[in-house]
Amino acid sequence: MALHRHHERRDDRLLAPAFDAGAGSIPRHRIPGGVQDADAAARFVRDELMMDGNARQNLATFVTTWMEPQAAALIQDSLDKNIIDKDEYPQSAEIERRCVNILANLWHAPEPAGGANAIGCSTTGSSEAAMLAGMALKWRWRQRREAAGQDAAKPNLVMGANVQVCWEKFCRYWEVEPRMVRLDGATHLTADAAAAACDENTIGVVTVLGSTFDGSYEPVAGIAAALDALAARTGIDVPVHVDAASGGFIAPFLDPDLPWDFRLERVRSINASGHKYGLVYPGIGWVLWRGETDLPRELVFSVDYLGGAMPTFALNFSRPAAQVIAQYYTLVRYGYDGYRSIQQRSRDIAGTIAAGVAELGMFRLLSRGEELPVLAFALEDGGAFTVYDVSHELRSHGWIVPAYPMPEGMEDVHVLRVVVRNGFTYDLAAMFLADLAASVGRLAGGSEPGSSFHH
Ligand SMILES: *Cc1c(COP(=O)(O)O)cnc(C)c1O
Repeated sequence: MALHRHHERRDDRLLAPAFDAGAGSIPRHRIPGGVQDADAAARFVRDELMMDGNARQNLATFVTTWMEPQAAALIQDSLDKNIIDKDEYPQSAEIERRCVNILANLWHAPEPAGGANAIGCSTTGSSEAAMLAGMALKWRWRQRREAAGQDAAKPNLVMGANVQVCWEKFCRYWEVEPRMVRLDGATHLTADAAAAACDENTIGVVTVLGSTFDGSYEPVAGIAAALDALAARTGIDVPVHVDAASGGFIAPFLDPDLPWDFRLERVRSINASGHKYGLVYPGIGWVLWRGETDLPRELVFSVDYLGGAMPTFALNFSRPAAQVIAQYYTLVRYGYDGYRSIQQRSRDIAGTIAAGVAELGMFRLLSRGEELPVLAFALEDGGAFTVYDVSHELRSHGWIVPAYPMPEGMEDVHVLRVVVRNGFTYDLAAMFLADLAASVGRLAGGSEPGSSFHH
């Protein structure tokens, strides 16, 4: 969320809708004095929003940009429900509980019979989930230290330099040293580097299932094994949190044999974004803990629920229930097979684009959509133009494709990234590849832009 400044004096022109001669004008930064006609006001706001990009051509975001009309209708019908009002909307609370259990099963949480009862909740997204999971790690670590009569003043969190910014945010807001491991050979955190960065003040290791930089999976099982070895050797016993913002809804369907989740004893908590490959419009994430002992009781508050009390863990109090309901709809609607075929199609389309990019002969692919349906590619050295130029050219075709440097350790490598999501088609992929070829052709001096315009 951009932090907006109050700059009324520099920009105090009135806004005058072009329609409705009699409508008058609207002050830009003050509430209008009078009432506007509802249709005119809605038309005015809608016209302003036209200037936003076209979501379907946005290859930058991981976040869902298409849902079925039935889902949109359900969201519309439940816009008035507040998820925190468990007492008033017990069925929404029940639906949230079912979603948590569905994810616990998909992520192989141990059966409740073993005393390990997975618990979790919805959040606004993976960022809030990261704050909650990070707090649980910090509180647990502090309890262990204090119980052993040891100093608990200098917590640190180990992660790759490729983590999403929410983890830096967690560290700054909750006063934990971010121990960012430089990339060294791989595009993400590796097992040995993770274990080497840990010490007795490490509250946890964050591993990412699906790096935002190139879509690659970190070797969660390898990292867990390296931490097992560290514990055996030194007694330093570090829990793992998996940031599966994207991969949490990809790996269970496309890589069922890959152990990245609660199958690994050391994995104590997992987050995912329902609004990424969970296939729901923005505003929903999930966080689950392996068992009750992984979530310290002091962090849990209780709200009224059918005359009783229900435990909650959240940063916000009020939040829309609609996104939780929409998540339940997608789970019921698609089922395991549906999710698998949607995610497989995204992965296939990403592979097709990767092959097309490789054919152009001037790019080096860091990833080909074989893990997350994401590809990242750099220009071969010594070209006359940069990935930033390519990104700019693609923009003139309507495509939004970000260009950026890789994290510390690989900062000299600049890449373009394409994220393939549900709603992207083979047709769009072919159009994108044609526009990419035209863009690099133009940058290489092949054709003059704008010469075919006739009045
Ligand atoms: C997107 C993302 C986040 C942040 O998630 P939001 O749901 O946008 O808050 C965190 N980690 C990873 C790996 C991500 O891809």
